[in-house]
Amino acid sequence: MYKTDICILGAGPGGATTALHLAQKGISSLLIDKATFPRDKICGDALSGKVVNELRRISPELPELFSREQAVQVPSWGIHFISPGGQKLSVPFKYNYKPEEDAPAGYISKRIDFDNFLIEQVRLRPEIKLIEGADITRYERQRDGSFTLSDKEGKIQVEAKLLIVANGAQSAFTRHVAGLQQEPEHYCAGLRAYYKGVEGLDKDNFIELHFYKDFLPGYFWVFPLPNGFANVGVGMLSSAISSKKVNLKKEMLRMIETHPELQKRFGNAELIGDIKGYGLPLGSKKRSLSGDNYMLVGDAGALIDPFTGEGISNAMISGRWAAEQASNCLEQQDFSAAFMQAYDKAVYNRLWKELKLSRQMQKLLNYPWLFNQVANKATKNQALAETISCMFNDLDLRERLKQPSFYFKLLFN
Ligand SMILES: Cc1cc2nc3c(=O)[nH]c(=O)nc-3n(C[C@H](O)[C@H](O)[C@H](O)COP(=O)(O)OP(=O)(O)OC[C@H]3O[C@@H](n4cnc5c(N)ncnc54)[C@H](O)[C@@H]3O)c2cc1C
Repeated sequence: MYKTDICILGAGPGGATTALHLAQKGISSLLIDKATFPRDKICGDALSGKVVNELRRISPELPELFSREQAVQVPSWGIHFISPGGQKLSVPFKYNYKPEEDAPAGYISKRIDFDNFLIEQVRLRPEIKLIEGADITRYERQRDGSFTLSDKEGKIQVEAKLLIVANGAQSAFTRHVAGLQQEPEHYCAGLRAYYKGVEGLDKDNFIELHFYKDFLPGYFWVFPLPNGFANVGVGMLSSAISSKKVNLKKEMLRMIETHPELQKRFGNAELIGDIKGYGLPLGSKKRSLSGDNYMLVGDAGALIDPFTGEGISNAMISGRWAAEQASNCLEQQDFSAAFMQAYDKAVYNRLWKELKLSRQMQKLLNYPWLFNQVANKATKNQALAETISCMFNDLDLRERLKQPSFYFKLLFN
């Protein structure tokens, strides 16, 4: 039986980040996960510049520490978009980047390694009590609003004044207590496989997003990893999967076996392990992220970018704000839903603008001809390529993608 002010459920990037920020403030927490680390998580394994920023916010030396972990990560300098028309548009994360001099804009690292990197930081902190191998299945609210949690066997019981729920896309708490439903228009299904020996990977580890005509609005990715591995996968909106009756695994293998370019590149490649699937709750709709005595963090609060499928950084950002709110709750001894609203506000202040934009860009996939035009023009037009490259760091510039005039000028200039 554990009695604690703050219990964090789930020790992925969202939960671990929350616990680490609380520890930095000198606040103790109980962090529980059903897995024992290192553990796998089905993911594309791409860590954006926002993840690097969040590492820095946990502690200034963390990005440097992670950059030294060369056996488990590769730095990535950009994205190759392959348009439905077959045009390759290469967009560096930083214009005119110099790999020998610049700090990498992003990384690719298997989640078994990245998440464990964070857990190693957790293990260093005496303020955090980490319990592994505890699958929490029961949540009971007490008269004073606090929660009692327990696992199926009743071996572990926890009483917590404040529950921070960071247990991912399949969180039972999210569905049954917070009342957030899975909506096919705002949910994506993804598959991930590890291959060894894929040919033609970029020398600067650009990630590849392929938008094939016969697989829209879904996409196919190839992300280079250390030691000759690549993370290969597909993602598609759940509503499109049902309406088009798509079998994701069949489609993924079909593309690898029959697409002329992929056929060549995968000719000598070997699938290592199984092809595995998992859900991506998208942040394309605002939800209520808190209530009396609880907050939802990361995938449990559906915060994944609807265009790129990026969710690690948003889990870490929401974890940072959850720690801030938890500290205010303790100070004021106020755990009410009304007081907790400040958390929702902080998260959406930071993320809503970009989530809304990504929702617009996601809709671009319904207009493959427009996508083709943008790709075609950008490969020939240096200024446009530069603009798109800068869009990764400049949200106001990304706003332009929302305006019809952007496409009008593009098509007719
Ligand atoms: C196919 C696919 C590809 C993706 N690609 C990318 C990508 O390339 N880049 C990117 O940024 N994002 C990507 N994402 C999204 C990313 O994986 C998630 O957004 C991210 O993992 C969210 O972190 P989290 O901490 O909220 O949840 P998670 O990482 O899911 O962590 C949740 C933790 O809770 C634990 N847990 C679950 N249930 C219980 C329970 N009952 N009791 C105790 N513990 C429990 C789990 O063991 C786990 O450790 C992808 C997702 C998928 C499915």
